[in-house]
Amino acid sequence: MLDIKYELTTSPKQKPAADDPLVFGTIFTDHMFMMNYETGKGWHDARIVPYQPIVLEPSAMVFHYGQEMFEGLKAYRGPKEEVLLFRPDKNIERANNTNRRLCIPEIPEEDFLQALKAIVKTDADWIPEKPGTSLYIRPFIIATDPFLGVRPSDRYLFIIILSPVGPYYASGLKPVKIWIEDEYVRAIRGGIGEAKTGGNYVASLKSQVKAHDEGYSQVLWLDGVERKYIEEVGAMNIFFKINGTVVTPMLTGSILPGVTRNSVIQLCKEWGVPVEERRISVDEVYEAAMNGTLEECFGSGTAAVISPVGELRFEEHRFEINGGKIGELSQKLYDTVTGIQLGKIQGPEGWSVRVDE
Ligand SMILES: *Cc1c(COP(=O)(O)O)cnc(C)c1O
Repeated sequence: MLDIKYELTTSPKQKPAADDPLVFGTIFTDHMFMMNYETGKGWHDARIVPYQPIVLEPSAMVFHYGQEMFEGLKAYRGPKEEVLLFRPDKNIERANNTNRRLCIPEIPEEDFLQALKAIVKTDADWIPEKPGTSLYIRPFIIATDPFLGVRPSDRYLFIIILSPVGPYYASGLKPVKIWIEDEYVRAIRGGIGEAKTGGNYVASLKSQVKAHDEGYSQVLWLDGVERKYIEEVGAMNIFFKINGTVVTPMLTGSILPGVTRNSVIQLCKEWGVPVEERRISVDEVYEAAMNGTLEECFGSGTAAVISPVGELRFEEHRFEINGGKIGELSQKLYDTVTGIQLGKIQGPEGWSVRVDE
């Protein structure tokens, strides 16, 4: 059990108005959780303090060698005003997998969960009310040793900040256009692709800018060796429904194992929809699009939940999927996952966790 000290704000901020669009990641709540680590002392000094800037040495290791990790999940208000987290155990498990890969000390699972519940409970009145809105939770750890040598840091800061967010698609679920990247790659097996860390994102910026300039909203990555097999989208995993079977790239080490991905696979299996986790080449997808067996394509991730794909572009080929409309399975998955998140539908055991229990 963490002994969390509370220093609550004496000047609460103005909360966003009910009709505020709550643009993703722009508004932050009154408080944040913080905890320090030092070699020999372990994780210590858990506290909830007013949201504020942090002071670091310019030589802090995170600025130079990128030793940092992050997570992303959401809190929702259920039908009885209870505050719910969606599968936080999966995020915590993944956080510690990331920590191990990046030589960051692990956080005991029960302490992590306690911290999540405590900060969300503290700022629960920041959870927006309108349909499709939620409170985005961003836990992260940074290496703070003031040292320019390359080695794992001896000091870290674990912080959790909260941000009220609007629906990902302001005007309802809308298919996106995706650019299949054939020049740059995001990650390779044995690298850090399966870790949730900033380094993977800085590697993606150049392609993202290019895709945006061409009118595409996101990049679909191919494997870093043969540039032939599909990996994932910017911050989403990817699914194809081909001839009745749902296919998604298997986790080989270069793909981020999404909690939403795992949930989609489990729901499809429960519904008796055949699911295959395997290698899938861009040629196979192209062929399926050409012969009419590519029925649906969608991305999965915490931000958008399910994001139908209406168009793929590969080299000079553009192909429309399902007439640019939302597929039946995509819609059913979206309705079911969001229904479970909001406590309107009973999901599998442990998928919905109350912060006050
Ligand atoms: C976070 C993330 C995802 C989606 O994971 P969820 O747990 O479903 O939100 C997919 N790809 C990348 C690169 C990510 O960082």
